[in-house]
Amino acid sequence: MSFASLGLLPELLRAVGEQGYEHPTPIQAQAIPIVLEGRDLMGRAQTGTGKTAGFTLPLLQRLSPHANTSASPARHPIRALILTPTRELAMQVEESVRTYGRHIPLRSTTIFGGVNINPQTKALRAGVEILVATPGRLLDHQQQGNLNFSQLEVLVLDEADRMLDMGFIRDIQKILALLPAKRQTLLFSATFTDEIKQLASKFLRDPATVQITPQNTAAELVRQIVHPVDRERKRALLSHLITSRKLEQVLVFTRTKHGANRLSEQLDKDGISSMAIHGNKSQPQRIKALEDFKKGAVRVLVATDIAARGLDIDMLPHVVNFELPQVPEDYIHRIGRTGRAGSEGEALSLVCVDEKQLLKDIEKLLRKELPKDVVAGYAPDPSIPAEPIQTGRSGGGRTGGGRSSSGRPSAGRSGAASSAHRARPGARGK
Ligand code: AMP
Repeated sequence: MSFASLGLLPELLRAVGEQGYEHPTPIQAQAIPIVLEGRDLMGRAQTGTGKTAGFTLPLLQRLSPHANTSASPARHPIRALILTPTRELAMQVEESVRTYGRHIPLRSTTIFGGVNINPQTKALRAGVEILVATPGRLLDHQQQGNLNFSQLEVLVLDEADRMLDMGFIRDIQKILALLPAKRQTLLFSATFTDEIKQLASKFLRDPATVQITPQNTAAELVRQIVHPVDRERKRALLSHLITSRKLEQVLVFTRTKHGANRLSEQLDKDGISSMAIHGNKSQPQRIKALEDFKKGAVRVLVATDIAARGLDIDMLPHVVNFELPQVPEDYIHRIGRTGRAGSEGEALSLVCVDEKQLLKDIEKLLRKELPKDVVAGYAPDPSIPAEPIQTGRSGGGRTGGGRSSSGRPSAGRSGAASSAHRARPGARGK
């Protein structure tokens, strides 16, 4: 299967070739022809499957025949809107739009919260055909009269399950009410829960469905190992593994922002350069951390789930679950950071007695048991009893809550998102 056989324009094939992609991924092979036809689509796929190109390429093609190079903003109405749950994902998607659309004269911009609104307003006033946005900030711009969707042709809801988890449902409904009824709608989600199906039945018309199950994507390419260890010895084991195995470019996941900060400080004390990235860090801080990590100046990036969503780091060799996620699907998202689009990776999970049930839930989702490997010198002490898992909610409001003055959760604030997760037991298991 080649990209050319999918019916893409030469300009897009050129951009794909420049990226070094040889073959479409399964989600691309299935989704591209459907989107080109103009049909609504429900895609079940998570990060790491190539889903972004799966909707961006045909979207660019659908918009391209009318593309014009006029400088007048009036000639550049918003024709496509891509909604994402977080600013990181919004930035990454817009980067993909620019990359794949570099030979097509369409303008794009991204709007998200947590940064000055004025440059975004300026970009919108100058006119863009493709807008990538998080829901909260989009509504802020709407209130300020910066948006006109009368010419909108395509709406993409990316990571729709995550948007619902983050409490964006009312914002999404408000946004949908602003859009023309006659449009093409694409919805991508890692899971098809009842809530997602309800959303789709309300806002999509006769959608085609494309499903890429975790079993035949990243999860298969990634070597997954569980290292049983005592709660208090995880940090020592992590440093031991990184040092003895000479691991470079390690992405480490913790459950809480506080935990990410603390671990990063401890790794530094062990002589392992690291940085923490999470919802409390400013945008420039996150960008700097990511850049340093990408160029190898920082060996370990410690992240919370929400902060890591949409981080564009390709083919990471190692992902470490310092703590297992509360929601099993997040495990799939995490390990999707490694072994991406064909290259092999390794995911290590440091699991203590408190996390037995979380591990079981993950294995149930994966439909397989993960191999366990006790590292010499770090065997768990069986006399240590399990303790309730610290979610970061207690202890002086460490996770914040992330509500904006308008009362809605603000995009990219991991506190709001992760507490929404925990409040939704339905998200656990199948
Ligand atoms: P996504 O699932 O959209 O986050 O994409 C995962 C990663 O796979 C991105 O870093 C893309 O650059 C890469 N990618 C997307 N499509 C392909 C392809 N057809 N071949 C190789 N890599 C790809």
